[in-house]
Amino acid sequence: SIYGDYIKSVIRTVPDWPQAGVNFRDITPLLQNSAAFRKLIDSFVHRYQELEVDAVAAIDARGFIIGAPLAYELGCSFVPVRKKGKLPFKTISETYSLEYGESSVELHSDAFQKGDRIVVMDDLIATGGTMLAAAKLIQRSGGHVVETATIVDLPELGGSEKIRQSGHNVFAVCS
Ligand code: 5GP
Repeated sequence: SIYGDYIKSVIRTVPDWPQAGVNFRDITPLLQNSAAFRKLIDSFVHRYQELEVDAVAAIDARGFIIGAPLAYELGCSFVPVRKKGKLPFKTISETYSLEYGESSVELHSDAFQKGDRIVVMDDLIATGGTMLAAAKLIQRSGGHVVETATIVDLPELGGSEKIRQSGHNVFAVCS
């Protein structure tokens, strides 16, 4: 994307967090920088404003930060995809495996109408497990996944490739 190099320059890498050997990509400097945050949201708005999106489904918790302003600008619904046990009404859930153990994401069963056009958002794609589980949930609930969207893709981990092989578009502002 046109602002990719700029956005990348305001993301901080924190070595050995949350554990030794992991380089965590920290987006808080990007959020603190009002010009950068605006350019980030504008990148998503420009990409999706002509695509007749019915809802932005954003993943708990950093996906919410970017998904909510995008939905506001597009004039569409906002739907939270949450970690297990957080949603109060009737839910559907999708479990996926992590390096150690497993995790689940959940959606309210009435979050979409059949055929609704959905953009799925998260801040980062690593192995792709989280994003793919969210996309599956949306398909199961009758939504059409227009695209999965993220600030950062880590292509060497193969996640975005796996998501594409499952039939979804992937848009990343930077890699
Ligand atoms: P995946 O399921 O693709 O392996 O991991 C992506 C999920 O973990 C996303 O929800 C993302 O927020 C979080 N995540 C994993 N690594 C990082 C990282 O380095 N930086 C940030 N900001 N989030 C990460």
